Amino acid sequence: MHALLVEDDDRMARALGTALVQRGHTVRRAARALDALRHVREAEFVLLDLGLPDLDGLELLRRLRTVCDAPLIVVTARCEERDIVQGLRAGADDYVVKPFRMAELMARIDTVRRRTGARAGAAGAGPARDAGGPVRRGDVEVDPAGRTVTVAGTEVRLTRREFDVLAILAARPDEARSREEILDRIWGDAFLAASRSLDVHVAGIRAKTGRPGLVRTVRGFGYRLGTPDAGEERDRDS
Ligand code: CA
Repeated sequence: MHALLVEDDDRMARALGTALVQRGHTVRRAARALDALRHVREAEFVLLDLGLPDLDGLELLRRLRTVCDAPLIVVTARCEERDIVQGLRAGADDYVVKPFRMAELMARIDTVRRRTGARAGAAGAGPARDAGGPVRRGDVEVDPAGRTVTVAGTEVRLTRREFDVLAILAARPDEARSREEILDRIWGDAFLAASRSLDVHVAGIRAKTGRPGLVRTVRGFGYRLGTPDAGEERDRDS
């Protein structure tokens, strides 16, 4: 696979590049955000350092995500929870904090590629496997087939994975779904970063629709579709 390695530190780039080539990948290194944007379309997966000289890494991540759907792992020294949540919310598939063990990073690359590959290969299957007709809750309509969500008649743009989470809940609107099932179906794995990722995506659905009650937390189990009140602004689960 062809990797885009976005890393301004020469030693780190060399070590990562060598490890990737040893595992049979080809590597394009970008030392600056501008180079990354130039070459991202050819990448089959991306490793992204957040501390770059010419642009904030989270901003670069958001820009990369507008043009590229390839699996992306943030590899960074920033280890604050806020950074990790922002990175996942901005579209990273995983988040690895420096210093890391090379074998662990390589394993995570394989996992991310597997689960994103499964997603792409199952286009229209996966979460849409049991896509039925539109589901209406309060003033929210979720259309799994058309992959649209409207709130009070206005379409709301969710990320692909936010929609996948919502579609799983909407497929059987009267049943709670366990965290494990959702993680397994969307991420193909339930390790720590992905587990955090689910909470981030649920928060994104609640915030973007402005209907926090649309996704109800089932304590100690998972989530279910709720019936939101129009104009509700607060998450009553919390
Ligand atoms: Ca750096």
